[in-house]
This record gives sequence, structure tokens and C-alpha cells, in this order.
Amino acid sequence: MIPIQEIHKAGERISGYIRKTPVHRLTMKAEGSEQQLVLKLENLQYTGSFKIRGAANKMLNLNESARAAGVIAVSTGNHGRAVAAMASHLGIRAVICLSEGTAPNKVAAIESLGPEVRRVGQTYDEATVIAKQRGKIEGLTFIEPFDDPEIIAGQGTIGLELLDFDPSLDAILVPMSGGGLISGIGIAYKHYDPEVKLVGVSMGAGAVMGASLEKGHPVKLSEEATIADALVGGLGKDNQYTFSHCQELVDTVILLSEEEITGAIVYALQELHLLVEGGGVVGLAAVLFGKARDLGERLGIIISGGNIDLGLVASLIQANKL
Ligand SMILES: *Cc1c(COP(=O)(O)O)cnc(C)c1O
Repeated sequence: MIPIQEIHKAGERISGYIRKTPVHRLTMKAEGSEQQLVLKLENLQYTGSFKIRGAANKMLNLNESARAAGVIAVSTGNHGRAVAAMASHLGIRAVICLSEGTAPNKVAAIESLGPEVRRVGQTYDEATVIAKQRGKIEGLTFIEPFDDPEIIAGQGTIGLELLDFDPSLDAILVPMSGGGLISGIGIAYKHYDPEVKLVGVSMGAGAVMGASLEKGHPVKLSEEATIADALVGGLGKDNQYTFSHCQELVDTVILLSEEEITGAIVYALQELHLLVEGGGVVGLAAVLFGKARDLGERLGIIISGGNIDLGLVASLIQANKL
């Protein structure tokens, strides 16, 4: 396991490059019981998602020669945007590999930061293989999206900030894909409160980490279209860190339908006045749709990103779901 000190160090290292995002507190009443929610708003983070934390920690640690050569990354969008933003801050070359299925708003946001964007592969997993190969051939440092101690430590800084806001949570609900976010938060919060329940939340279709934890080893699933596009993708061919961290740290997994995720996007917009993307809203969706009732009275909810396509929001409104 990555030592807690690495997360404290990451917090210091990245402090000039990230926002200490605020929390919203709200009370949810259902069937005579009450839950206090603490929403950690990483949709308000620079670049629109928490991914800048890991990318900053990793890239600020690169040595001179690695910086001079440049970096390469693969992404469903948010990691690529974070790497491109950090590359632009540091004045280093970045190549961002995106599969054909990447959400158009995310492609546009990355392009506007000025990296070299390459459209490679039909799926995210195909794009990953190509990006790693190109990195080796072209001498570029591959910036892992999750399976790297420095990335995990960067994401873990959210756990430290959450402890400052509320050290007595019963459970924390974390959007889960490759598992870097939940691993980092789990290490940080559980270090100070080993009793807290760590809950991974994903879409029902193609949730690779959830299926892998159930089987006891990393599995492959075919990629399916989902409104939670940030949660798509496998664990990588030779997962070294996040699978074993999740085995150790994650207490429960909750899976959600597309309708539940969509319902939570609309709820966040209408009731909380928050613009949240599908992958970012799953923790809240779990609460709204009654899947978190037995997790205790005080719940931390990581709202992990807000980069939703406005065309998609418009279509939800037009479909009269707002
Ligand atoms: C990347 C991402 C996640 C999942 O993070 P992992 O470290 O891959 O588990 C969740 N939400 C959003 C918005 C993301 O961009």
C-alpha cells in the first residue's frame, strides 16, 4: 500500500495547481430516516474533474530529461485534459490519445489547451495499447490514468480535504473505474478512521473493477455505451497497484442503471444547481435511488467531475426530464 506520507507530500506539491474544492452539505429524508450528505465538489476543480490532482503530482515530479522529451497519455477525456493543462503550465510537450468514442465536448476542451491530439483505436482499451507503444517508440513518458503510486497519491489528497471538512463519516461513496480515485481516498481517510466504509460506485454495464473484485482477479469486459463515459475502460494489461489496493480498501460496490444516473444528473441540476457529468454523479445517484440506506447516517459523496456535453443536457431538457 502507498504510505500516507506520500499523500501528504502530494498535497503540498500540487497546492499551487489545484483548488481545494468546497463541500455542499444536505439532508436527505426517506422513509422516516435521515442521512446527512457531504458532497465534495470536484466538478468545480480546475479542468472540471479531480484528475488534475494526480496529473499534477506525477508531472511535477518528472526529472529534467523526461520534461524535455514530453509526455503521452490516453484518456476518456478528463485525464487527457488534466495532462494537457499541466503540460501547458510546465511548458512541456504532450500527446493525448483518444479513442473514437470520446465525448465531443471533452475532445474540444483538450484541443483548446494545445497538445497534440491523436484519435486512435475504436475503444479506450485499444487506445491504451497504442498510446503505451507510441510512448516507448517516441521516448515520451506515459502518464498513467490510475495505476501509478504518484497518481493515486494525488487523487488521495481529496481524502485529506474531506477529513478536514468531516472526520466522522460513516461511509464514502466514490465513483470507480480504474480505481485510482477510490484507492487514494481510501488510504487517506482510513488511515485516520479505519472504521469508515469505502463504497465504489459504477454504472451497471461494463464496470470492470467491480467485476474484478467479485472474481478475485482482474477481468476484461467489453466496452458499452454509457452516460457515465468517464467510468469506461479496463484495468490495464498488467495492473500493479489499483486492483490490490481496491481488494484491501473497498468494502462494497454499488452498480447503477443508466436511468438512475440520468435521474441524478437532472436532480443535481434542478435541485442543487450543480452541473455534474454522468461518471461524477453516481455516488449521489446511489443515495437518490435508495441503494445507500444501510450505509449509515453521515455519507461523504465524491462528485468527481462536471464535464458533461451541453448538447446532452439540452436533450435531457427537451426529453422533458427537467
Ligand atoms: C476518471 C474518473 C473517475 C474514475 O477514476 P478512477 O481513478 O479511474 O477510478 C470518476 N469520475 C470521473 C469524472 C473521472 O474522470
